[in-house]
Amino acid sequence: MQGKNAVITGGARGIGESIARLLAKMGANIVIWDVLEDQAKATAGAIASAFGVKTAGQAADVTSGDSVEAAVAAAVAGLGGIDILINNAGITRDGLLIRMKEEDWDKVLAINLKGVWQCTKSVGRVMLKARRGAIVNIASVVGVMGNAGQANYSASKAGVIGLTKTSAKEFASRGIRVNAVAPGFIRTAMTDKLTDEQRKRMLDLIPLGQLGTPEDVADAAVFLASDAARYITGQTINVCGGMLM
Ligand code: NAP
Repeated sequence: MQGKNAVITGGARGIGESIARLLAKMGANIVIWDVLEDQAKATAGAIASAFGVKTAGQAADVTSGDSVEAAVAAAVAGLGGIDILINNAGITRDGLLIRMKEEDWDKVLAINLKGVWQCTKSVGRVMLKARRGAIVNIASVVGVMGNAGQANYSASKAGVIGLTKTSAKEFASRGIRVNAVAPGFIRTAMTDKLTDEQRKRMLDLIPLGQLGTPEDVADAAVFLASDAARYITGQTINVCGGMLM
């Protein structure tokens, strides 16, 4: 990872921040993209102090082509190129399918799925020119298993897994690998919202008997982004304590 440049979308906190920290610990320069510029800059600053690598925090809304293009141009101007893209930004807006509001469907699909396509397209152009790169998309096991109350979210994550395979096929001949990590239930702000009852039902489904941590996801994501995964593309690794086999 020494000297490589990595962009992490939604990297100001949660799983994205853990991936950014691990990449930095291994020597990569880090660009954090987040909707809130202050938070992106604060996390980037903390990572620079902790690991002594170059970092930048940029405002980038993954749903907006213009915003992503401007962020790509700034990242390339600052660092000279992009070697690694982690498509991590994602949200939930849960509700039963028949009661789900159209705006909640649209918002989740726009950030979780269109955002991955948008960033892959814009950063992909830079990687195609350089003829190298690694992209890791953060999907979810519910994209494969489904989950009552998450029609929008599970559809978006199933889409991410399909998009991962197509991008892998389109980019492979130019030396760019594209893979996904599908986390199960991970302790972050996203799962802190769950009730005790929901949490207990979840734990019953996990053979390893505990929620995962952002670091568990980061280990798999950084492996896929590294040269240790040089012969792996188009794959999805489930990091879920055995919930999906
Ligand atoms: P999180 O703590 O809510 O972090 C998500 C990050 O994405 C936040 O920093 C958020 O910024 C940012 N973001 C939201 N909308 C954005 C946009 N339009 N453009 C750019 N950034 C945006 O969530 P997390 O739990 O770490 O989840 C990270 C990824 O893992 C997501 O893709 C999620 O679906 C996936 N995942 C999580 C779990 C889990 O159990 N936690 C399980 C499976 C998969 P703000 O702070 O401004 O909102």
